[in-house]
Amino acid sequence: MSAPTARTRVFTILGNPVEHSLSPVIQNAAFREAGVDGVYVALRCDAEQMAGFMSGLGRGGGAGNVTLPHKEKAASILDKPSEAVRRTGACNTFWGEDGKLCGDNTDVEGFRRALEHFLGGAVTGYRVLLLGAGGAARAALLSLIDDQAQDVLILNRTVERARAVARRIGGDRVRVAESHSDVDDGDFDLVINTTRLGLDPEDELPFDLERLSRAGAVMDLVYGSSATAFVAASKRLGIPAVDGGEMLVHQGAVAFERWWGEAAPIDAMRRALETARSSPTGA
Ligand code: NAP
Repeated sequence: MSAPTARTRVFTILGNPVEHSLSPVIQNAAFREAGVDGVYVALRCDAEQMAGFMSGLGRGGGAGNVTLPHKEKAASILDKPSEAVRRTGACNTFWGEDGKLCGDNTDVEGFRRALEHFLGGAVTGYRVLLLGAGGAARAALLSLIDDQAQDVLILNRTVERARAVARRIGGDRVRVAESHSDVDDGDFDLVINTTRLGLDPEDELPFDLERLSRAGAVMDLVYGSSATAFVAASKRLGIPAVDGGEMLVHQGAVAFERWWGEAAPIDAMRRALETARSSPTGA
């Protein structure tokens, strides 16, 4: 990719906060590797600015991603939501097409691919504890249900939000914990953190794994320049654990496919992520 010109397509990640995001690093690496003419930046914005940014970019040939806490707001702005957006009520990828604002939720497929990579197979028959009930939780839940997880227990700070997610996506394999005591001594093949706890190094852990009788594996959707505290705590207990880095690459690869209509250079994206994480500034 040469220097940007007046023809360069502009991409952005919209959210608040966005400073932690490594999407600009992996997408700009992908654009360079694929030789496409685009530039990707991060834009911190509030909910009421979302419609203006999304439709302005889409009309101008640009596109982008959406991160917390705006994925549900973004879904409500689209003219043409994908099936994944309709089923989750959350959108993380948008672009313009024939004057319409289109959107997808590539977190669903990104989560599925990253989980399969981590487990070395499908989640079929797994008993899962899902922490959180925001946009990322919806994507994870849809993927778990479609891939025949045996059952999923959702634990969220705001119980009503967990109930709403269960009603929207759930079915009879999804239950909601009213409090931590509903989870005590539980036996889970997989524990997934989809809360934002861990983004800030000062955050408490999203869950105390010692309350469980068993946690077979842990996946933390949060990622940073080093292992999250939850991943580190899991490994100290001897539980195999992975953070959200691989999911970031996969959701980004699916977004790249939507925007450019060609396969993403996934190895270049992985390498860019590793380089960013090993640099002192994390970018
Ligand atoms: P969101 O829609 O804003 O949801 C935030 C979730 O965190 C909610 O469940 C919320 O609970 C919970 N939470 C926030 N503060 C909390 C606190 N102090 N104590 C307990 N729970 C708290 O955000 P999101 O879009 O789902 O994103 C969540 C995380 O997933 C972020 O860190 C994001 O970076 C990460 N993520 C990673 C990837 C990836 O590719 N690796 C993809 C998507 C998201 P309440 O409902 O009670 O507010």
